[in-house]
Amino acid sequence: MADRLRNKVAIITGAARGIGARSAELFAQEGAAVAVWDINQERGTDVVDCIQSVGGKAVFCPCDVTKDQQIQQAVDQTVSKFGYPSVLFNNAGIAVVGEIEQITPEDWDHQYEVNVKSIYLVSRAVIPVMRQAGGGSIINMGSESAFVGFPMHPAYTSSKAAVVHLTRSMAVRYAPEKIRVNSLCPGTINTELLTEFLAQQDDPEAVKEEIRDMHPLGIGEPEDIAWAAVYLASDESKYMTGAPMLVEGGILTL
Ligand code: NAP
Repeated sequence: MADRLRNKVAIITGAARGIGARSAELFAQEGAAVAVWDINQERGTDVVDCIQSVGGKAVFCPCDVTKDQQIQQAVDQTVSKFGYPSVLFNNAGIAVVGEIEQITPEDWDHQYEVNVKSIYLVSRAVIPVMRQAGGGSIINMGSESAFVGFPMHPAYTSSKAAVVHLTRSMAVRYAPEKIRVNSLCPGTINTELLTEFLAQQDDPEAVKEEIRDMHPLGIGEPEDIAWAAVYLASDESKYMTGAPMLVEGGILTL
């Protein structure tokens, strides 16, 4: 077991699969006690079992990150199990697909509720206990799409741009309290979110090929992002705050 996150308690939202699940595994491997927050109890428990089976520390906390009461319960559960958290990875997110004239106002609101408002709600509940830990690192999940226009999902892309800027405001506010806040902006990553997005396209294989061609390094894997999250969670990044950390396979260099 390595120790880049030794003695840290970390909360990861949306950690039952994809990037969140891989991050939970690597955080635990690096010595953190990990609170796996997700709406999916079965898959979340599997992630915890997997971590514990190799000697890591983890707990599953059922939590819909749009529901204030569930968030507070998850904070209480995390603190009573492991103590005060010094890492919060606001990873949970969904992708509403559809152009402006196709999606409904309800879809639009739901997109912003899960991707943006949840960061406000979860941070509001966690910052008071992070203060008790003496400070820490908050990682907000952004995206390449905060910087590139994609016509197929404007609600998603604009929500991620909001995350990047929300991060800057939080970073300035909390720096004096030794709480760093950065956004992590992946390229396209091979997860079920991508599979579900492709399934909504007329020709999924052709769209996948197109996405691959847009990225000089092709499509990434969850662990490509999880290692970046380990860095942002660790003290190795102690002079970094407010930054959008791009791990995007080179799409922005084209
Ligand atoms: P994923 O495979 O869909 O995993 C996301 C997890 O979050 C799922 O377990 C999901 O549960 C959970 N979740 C959804 N809504 C939630 C809520 N309200 N409360 C708590 N948990 C919730 O997604 P991913 O690809 O790993 O993406 C993780 C993050 O990275 C997202 O913010 C995404 O926007 C961002 N990102 C992904 C990519 C990519 O290409 N994959 C690129 C850039 C950024 P259910 O499965 O039950 O819904």
